[in-house]
Amino acid sequence: MADNSYDVIIIGAGFGGSSCAGLLAKRGLKVLLLDKNANAGGKAMSLSKNGYTYTAWVVIGAPVEDNLYQQVLDELEVADLATLAIPGTQGSFYKSPDGTYSRMPEADTDHLDPEIIFNWLGIPEEHQERTLEFFTNMALMEPEDVAELEGQSFDDWLSSAELPRALYAFIVSLCCDGMFMVPVDKLDAAEAITCLQGVFVRGGGVFCEGGFGKVAEAYCEAVRRYGSEVMMGARVRRVIVEDGSVAGVETDKGQFEAPIVISNAGLQPTVLKLVGDEHFDADYAKRVRELVPSYSLIGYRYFLNKPVTDAPFGVVFSDGSPWTQQRLDEAAAGKGSREGVLYFEVPSNYDPNAAPEGKQMLMTGCFCPPDPDLSKEQLQAWASAGEEALFGVFPELEAAIENKDFYTTRNVSAATRDSVLSGVGGETIGLGQIVGQCGASKPSIEAPIEGLFFVGCDAGGVGVGTQQAIDSGIKVADAVERYHQQRNDAA
Ligand SMILES: Cc1cc2nc3c(=O)[nH]c(=O)nc-3n(C[C@H](O)[C@H](O)[C@H](O)COP(=O)(O)OP(=O)(O)OC[C@H]3O[C@@H](n4cnc5c(N)ncnc54)[C@H](O)[C@@H]3O)c2cc1C
Repeated sequence: MADNSYDVIIIGAGFGGSSCAGLLAKRGLKVLLLDKNANAGGKAMSLSKNGYTYTAWVVIGAPVEDNLYQQVLDELEVADLATLAIPGTQGSFYKSPDGTYSRMPEADTDHLDPEIIFNWLGIPEEHQERTLEFFTNMALMEPEDVAELEGQSFDDWLSSAELPRALYAFIVSLCCDGMFMVPVDKLDAAEAITCLQGVFVRGGGVFCEGGFGKVAEAYCEAVRRYGSEVMMGARVRRVIVEDGSVAGVETDKGQFEAPIVISNAGLQPTVLKLVGDEHFDADYAKRVRELVPSYSLIGYRYFLNKPVTDAPFGVVFSDGSPWTQQRLDEAAAGKGSREGVLYFEVPSNYDPNAAPEGKQMLMTGCFCPPDPDLSKEQLQAWASAGEEALFGVFPELEAAIENKDFYTTRNVSAATRDSVLSGVGGETIGLGQIVGQCGASKPSIEAPIEGLFFVGCDAGGVGVGTQQAIDSGIKVADAVERYHQQRNDAA
């Protein structure tokens, strides 16, 4: 084998690419993992500045128990390189119809306690028994019954339960909006319930000391320890296809050969740009163009001269927060309220080394279309709605601001995937977990070109953001190992 020749090349060291690379390297394949960035982690990379360390934006891991970050850290024997933080507490706020904010009371366990939630949201007693029954049925629904709901929107399914509005908003805004970043009337019911069951039973709210990027960096270190290669700062310009099969990649650091290429660069950028749609049949290319991404999360990092909260993270929502497609379209056209759910995270409240002594950094995130080319005014309009809610919850925060960073769809796209279609690229998750793109309709991990695979949130996994990407990494590693073996057997 020449020096620039590998069993597998993986484009992108996000959670999908880096977990897949680590697993394949451990199984003895000669892997080259390439990423255009200086650090691994993609959409959940770590950053540091002036004594603060943090995930680039609000990233809350779920579920907690038996989480995939740790499973793969353990399997790759690099658990010493990334320490998960599980604060076991949170600070979500409900804005009642009269405009007052009340914080969710503490529970004795890491799991959601229905009684506490009912009291907090003011659910009348006569609704409580039926509502509890609904939650219990959802949490315990058998996988085959959940699967039956594929193709139905979560909103259709949930609305049939006729829950009190505050509870509907709790499930949609506090849980679904942030977990999937798509309007509730597009969200696939089966995918949503599978993920909600995980969070209800196994808890939500896991982080990593030093930011989530440390997990992906640890996976990259495993690639090296198992004798394979990681090349950062290497942008892939083109996937080389010869006679209908992949042959390698061209990067700004040279050309590399492999009969298998796994792309974590996003399905649309891979097909439409790195490979080129001329290599695919027209129907496949059309389907790829029509795939719909998730919405984006934008917000601020507030560097504060004093702590303003003891909460490690929280969600601020009201009865009016849940996003439907119509509400999002009206808000985007400037014809409706942009007030939706707001997420916040305070890294030093789960990792004491994350901020200089006596200071605090609080990050926020709120919905926005995934377009990296939104104007400054449009971006400000979306972010201002979140800021208004934040200042309502923490009235002393504004006066404590020493510095403020604004992160937008443009930053997310630049750090992760190229924008190859108008209005797309700054999405939070990847492709949206919506009706028509989940379950049997989820894009395949195998492209219709011999040797080309996709990994990450666009294909192969189920779950919430980062863990969906790792789930894909695990499944793609299994499939590619089998494919590699079959190739060897046939040779
Ligand atoms: C603002 C924000 C908030 C989020 N909040 C949460 C949350 O609370 N909880 C949660 O679980 N998830 C959250 N997510 C989502 C989660 O981070 C992503 O879904 C997940 O990390 C995606 O992983 P991935 O492997 O699919 O791809 P990505 O993270 O997109 O990684 C792709 C990698 O490929 C590289 N790449 C792309 N093109 C090339 C190329 N041409 N050459 C070389 N390298 C290339 C990129 O540099 C990147 O490192 C959030 C994301 C954002 C942006």
